[in-house]
Amino acid sequence: MGRKKKIGFADLQGTHAELSSGGLKCPECNRVVSDADQMKLVPTLGGGKESSLATLNCPRCRTMLSIRFIAAS
Ligand SMILES: [Zn+2]
Repeated sequence: MGRKKKIGFADLQGTHAELSSGGLKCPECNRVVSDADQMKLVPTLGGGKESSLATLNCPRCRTMLSIRFIAAS
């Protein structure tokens, strides 16, 4: 096995509205995270219907992003 590039991790938090308006960005490369990215929604237990978690790999820098969606107030 050769040397492999280290892939980072990052946690984000925001609302669905922020996601829709381009308000969530990858902290590593500043790329805007969008609905069109292949994110996987992860249902959370006990967090209510509006709280959920999504994961995706940033298409630009490959950082693994975890996005916790919070209910808009
Ligand atoms: Zn990135």
